[in-house]
Amino acid sequence: MKLKLRTGDKVLVRCGKDRGEHGKIQRVLDAKTDKPRIIVEGLNMCRKHVKPSQSLPQGGILEKEQPFIPSKLMLICPACGQPARVGRKNLADGKHARYCKKCGELIDKL
Ligand SMILES: [Zn+2]
Repeated sequence: MKLKLRTGDKVLVRCGKDRGEHGKIQRVLDAKTDKPRIIVEGLNMCRKHVKPSQSLPQGGILEKEQPFIPSKLMLICPACGQPARVGRKNLADGKHARYCKKCGELIDKL
């Protein structure tokens, strides 16, 4: 299955502790592999206790986004604002575009 999510997409989290939260995709990791991971801005934060070091002399707690697996996320269609399934369309000029299966609008600006 091809990954249908891209950097900058708005997504809804479908399960886990951030279930129901919305966020913007910050980074897609390993997109070309069969195990892509997705980082969503400000979600799935993980606290890490850090010992004092040269870069952080006082030590402390570092908050960092942990990646999601794509099946936990659902795209929010920019046209209808609903969490939607994404389809693919072949365009006349040979390009592909994603579209929302709910309202039929193209998601990618061409
Ligand atoms: Zn839509």
